[in-house]
Amino acid sequence: MAQYREQSNFSTVMAGTKMGNFRSQKKHAIIPIFIPHYGCGYDCVFCNQNKITGVKSIPSYEEVESKIDKWLSTLRPLSEDSFNYAKSDNYAKTVELAFYGGSFTGIPMEVQSSYLDIAKRYKELGRIDKIHLSTRPDYIDENILENLKRHSVDTIELGAQSFDDEVLMASKRGHDSKCTEKSAKLIKDYGFELGLQLMVGLPKDTLKSSVHSAHEVVRLSPSLARIYPTVMLEDTELLNMYRNGEYKPLTRDEAVKRAKAIYLILEKAGITIMRVGLKSGDIIDNSVIDSPAYHPAFRQLVESEIARDRIENLINANRDILSDKSKKSDEPKIKVDICSSPKWFSNMLGNKSENKEYFKNKFSNLDLKYQIDRSIGDGDFKIVIKD
Ligand code: SF4
Repeated sequence: MAQYREQSNFSTVMAGTKMGNFRSQKKHAIIPIFIPHYGCGYDCVFCNQNKITGVKSIPSYEEVESKIDKWLSTLRPLSEDSFNYAKSDNYAKTVELAFYGGSFTGIPMEVQSSYLDIAKRYKELGRIDKIHLSTRPDYIDENILENLKRHSVDTIELGAQSFDDEVLMASKRGHDSKCTEKSAKLIKDYGFELGLQLMVGLPKDTLKSSVHSAHEVVRLSPSLARIYPTVMLEDTELLNMYRNGEYKPLTRDEAVKRAKAIYLILEKAGITIMRVGLKSGDIIDNSVIDSPAYHPAFRQLVESEIARDRIENLINANRDILSDKSKKSDEPKIKVDICSSPKWFSNMLGNKSENKEYFKNKFSNLDLKYQIDRSIGDGDFKIVIKD
């Protein structure tokens, strides 16, 4: 049984793009609660939810509580005084409870409320800090938002997927971009934090439409965003379309290129990019079929390309100094350190050290060393030309 979820199920506890050094304390922990959307009436071509409609049971309220307690026992262990948290290395500064799977606000209101009552209780006790959920753009209205407000929900993420109506239509999303815009604005008017998700490689998607979608996201100014590549799953219309020759999946390079274009636009606008790519936990089983865009380190592929561009620009911008130095030096190669933040060190080197190899070939007159510099921000780089 396979399912492409409407949105991500975080399986990890650390999030954020500007978190600095995690060594001693988790900054941001997420407790994921997966609520399958039974009875989803939609037929998005990339999703096989309908194949399991009515089969998958939702967790009982007791199961949800027990899961929260289990996570909290490591994230925020209680000391003997039940209102004091033990400040261990594992102690998480912010704990967010997130309802993922299907479309949370599409389930009956009384069921939503029962789950949210649990979340609200933990929040009022100070055991969690935030409540987060994901849903479809057309499952938002005043009534729903009033109920979420009553339950102290903080963040609502919308599976926008694209702002190109042709793409939405070809993907059978069942809503248009106007709907996403209206819901996004309503969410913000009610004072919630907004999250928006985009996909690259849906039917009829192009680099141009991905870029358009990114600019639309910036216009709606969410607090956070996610970027996913489209993958083909078993039992989906997308897979049939592929087999009939009606759909051509993106190559990995093209998927990275489009995700990178979106990333750069969102980054420039200061939007936190919580996720780039799918993790194995996002897909209930390993039913990804021949999807070149699927890569477990997709985010690293994107950020490594960004790192490569930025470092190359830096070296080129210093070309005159380097050439001058080369003329005066007796050494066969000029020694240059390339520095990044700790978090971006592996991006600087590239996936499988591809960037290192690239620079070695491209700048064969330089003796390059790669260093961590904690004063540098994530995504920034510095070059030091040695004497
Ligand atoms: S709305 Fe679409 S993506 Fe979400 S569960 Fe239903 S069919 Fe799947």
